[in-house]
Amino acid sequence: QVRVRFPPSPTGNLHVGNVRSALFNWVFARHYGGTFVLRIEDTDAGRNLAESYRGLMDALTWLGLDWDEGPQVGGPYGPYVQSERGTIYTDVTAKLLDSGLAYRCYCTREELEEREKARPKGAPSGYDGHCRDLTAEQVAGYEAEERTFVVRMRVPDAPIVFHDLVRGEITFEAVNVPDYVLVRGTGEPLYTLVNPVDDALMEITHVLRGEDLLPSTPRQIVLYRALAQIGVGSGRVPTFGHLPTVLGDGNRRLSKRDKGSGLAEYREKGYLPEALLNYLALLGWAIADDRDVFTIEEMVAVFDILRVNANPAKFDAKKCEAINAAHIRRLSTDELADQLVPFLVAADLVADPPTPEQWSLLVGATPLIQERMVTLSEGVELIRFLFTADADVEIDDTAALPASAGPVLEAAGAALRTVEPYDHTAIEAVLRSALIEGLGLKPKLAFGPVRVAVTGRKISPPLFESLELLGRDSSLARIEAARA
Ligand code: GLU
Repeated sequence: QVRVRFPPSPTGNLHVGNVRSALFNWVFARHYGGTFVLRIEDTDAGRNLAESYRGLMDALTWLGLDWDEGPQVGGPYGPYVQSERGTIYTDVTAKLLDSGLAYRCYCTREELEEREKARPKGAPSGYDGHCRDLTAEQVAGYEAEERTFVVRMRVPDAPIVFHDLVRGEITFEAVNVPDYVLVRGTGEPLYTLVNPVDDALMEITHVLRGEDLLPSTPRQIVLYRALAQIGVGSGRVPTFGHLPTVLGDGNRRLSKRDKGSGLAEYREKGYLPEALLNYLALLGWAIADDRDVFTIEEMVAVFDILRVNANPAKFDAKKCEAINAAHIRRLSTDELADQLVPFLVAADLVADPPTPEQWSLLVGATPLIQERMVTLSEGVELIRFLFTADADVEIDDTAALPASAGPVLEAAGAALRTVEPYDHTAIEAVLRSALIEGLGLKPKLAFGPVRVAVTGRKISPPLFESLELLGRDSSLARIEAARA
């Protein structure tokens, strides 16, 4: 039975690299009919209140990455928020100390620094094991001094070898894994303790996560083994798969500071969640050599973690846009119109819910923009003019009409006033005859001013269809206003 987890720390806006990890875990679970656990790792952050991870759950819900166990849904291994698991960690720490698998370290910061300075060249760095085997008298002495202590893991003196699903066999030499701190002097348990303890107790079978966490893996494996010895949790070490690093500009690891690295931005701009997930799937995985647009169900059906590429993956914003545009094109008219509604509502262009007139206008306009938009918010900008009162249409600064537009608009107005029926075919015919034949203009100079007058912009959906949707009265009113 596959059990995987996504354990974000609630630090506001999810990073797309983390979303990629969530996706791969979720898909892996769904592929094998397993369990996807959401666990909130909030021990480090001090005051993590419910609000700080509500946004995180909201983001996962938006993405469609539903969790089988975790906050809100519960489950047999809860609580799933680490700040509510304090007594569990205290208890496990006591067991680790009792069994000698971990020990109290009384070294002060100054002592550690001094010994570090005096460290002979070439000797391994990190903790030197000073408190590993203190005598009862030494311990009594430190206690008498009322020194605080940290709890350190006693790392066995043997290489740590494991098989990574993405990278194959990996070996860490023991000298490179010094005894590390599990619990701070303040009694605060650290990530190094709580993450493996929870994996063990929650019976996690596979840990799929970013390559940046690989350095912590040997320490965690040591702890999983220790927990197995003292009977905490499932008794097994999870199988690891470290997903390739996501590179941003300059081929450095995509960091929080990079543009395009936060999930919220995609949601605001109007990416479809399935398109964003499709793109993120490509950061390390491919469905086929000749195909990069797919649904998440298709990914679930064929996903194979062994086919994830270990090489770093470059985050390509243009490609992400192209994938989103492709998913937008796949929607039916009604589906796309539905997706546009919240953006139109947010822009104050339609009522919530839209009136029947607004909805039918939207359904009429949607096919005109479906091929021309990368994001939903772009789509809204293209059709904004349809939902704007005639008096409120503002001509964009970059589209200001020259004086020479006057006669063009006058002729266009005259033609539109009488054309019957008022549909795009007839509109096209009369405008061509009035402006191209009548005034001898090139199409761009003929239709450009009309477009600007009715939409306020140089770029719009196809002109004749736009005029039809807008209706004769509004079209004429806007042409008149632009002439004035
Ligand atoms: N809370 C850790 C993080 O967000 C979890 C890492 C892991 O997957 O083990 O980086």
